[in-house]
Amino acid sequence: MRVPALRVLFLRALIWPMASIMLHASVAAAAPDLAITIHEVAPGVFVHLGRQLALDAPGHDDIANIGFILGQRCVAVIDTGGSMRIGRALHAAIRRRTGLPICYVINTHVHVDHVLGNAAFRQERPKFVGHSGLDAAMARSREFFLQHYAGDLDQPPSATQIIAPDTPVEQTLELDLGGRHLQLRAWPLAHTDCDLTVFDDASRTLWTGDLLFRDRLPAVDGSASGWLTVIDQLARLQVVRAVPGHGPLSTDLPSALDPERRYLRALIDGVRDELAQGSSMQHAIAHVATAEMPNWLLWDSTHARNVARVYEQMEWQ
Ligand SMILES: [Zn+2]
Repeated sequence: MRVPALRVLFLRALIWPMASIMLHASVAAAAPDLAITIHEVAPGVFVHLGRQLALDAPGHDDIANIGFILGQRCVAVIDTGGSMRIGRALHAAIRRRTGLPICYVINTHVHVDHVLGNAAFRQERPKFVGHSGLDAAMARSREFFLQHYAGDLDQPPSATQIIAPDTPVEQTLELDLGGRHLQLRAWPLAHTDCDLTVFDDASRTLWTGDLLFRDRLPAVDGSASGWLTVIDQLARLQVVRAVPGHGPLSTDLPSALDPERRYLRALIDGVRDELAQGSSMQHAIAHVATAEMPNWLLWDSTHARNVARVYEQMEWQ
C-alpha cells in the first residue's frame, strides 16, 4: 500500500504545478476536477454514493447517489448531483472510463441534490430525460434554487444553468444504449410529483431515485399514502440490486423498502390519531412516530416537515 501511495503523492507534486500553470494560462479554465469515488456495482453500472448530510451542511451538494450506465453505443447518466462541481466530477469520472457519447442525462426527480449538475453535461448534447411532471416542477423550483443554492452554480448564477428535461416520460420509456436497454417508469404522486425509476435490463439493477431512502429519513414532498402504494408495487419487481436515492445499495429490495414503509405508516397513523383528538400541528410534530427516531439519520431536519405536510393534507379529508 505504501509505495503506490507515495507514488501518487510524488506524481501529484509533479502534476499540480503543471496543471496550475495551464489553468493560469487559460482565461476560461474551470477549477480542477474534483475526484469522486465511483463503484462499478455490476458490469457497466457505476455508482457514486452521496454523503448523509443535511441540505444546508457543507458538502450538501454531494448527498445523493448518482452514476452512469455504459452501453456499447453510448452512456446514460442517472442524476447529476447538487452542484456544477459534482456534475463536472461525474463527467470527469465518465471520461476516465470511456470516450463514448453521453446520449442521455436522466433525472429521477426535481430535488436540488439530484439535478443541479445537469449543466455540466450540456456540451455533450444529450437528451435530458425525466418524468412528464418534471418540467413544471423545475419551473416552480428554479427561483428557489437560484436564491438558496446560487453557490452551487457557476458564477454568476443564472437560470439557464438549471436544465429541465426535453424528453418527458408519461408512463414508460425504453432507452437503447447499445447492447443494453433501460426501462424508465414514471410514477404517480409519492416522494414528489415527478418520481422516475430506471431499470437496467442487462444487470437487473433498479435505480429507485428517492422512492427508496435507506438510513436517511425519507422526506415527503408529495404524498405519504401515495408513496406507500408505490412501495408495494416496487417490492414486487424482480430486481437483482437496487440503487436508492440515498444510502447503501441493496440486493433485497423488498426488505430494503420495509423501514421506509414502516415510517410512512407510523406518520400517517400518528397524524390521523392526532387529528381525531383535535391536536394542534405542533402537538403532532412532537408526538407522531417518535418511536421511529432511533432508526434514522437526519431526523431533526426532516421529520417536523413531514408531519406538517401530512397533517395539512389529512386535515381536509
Ligand atoms: Zn428527493
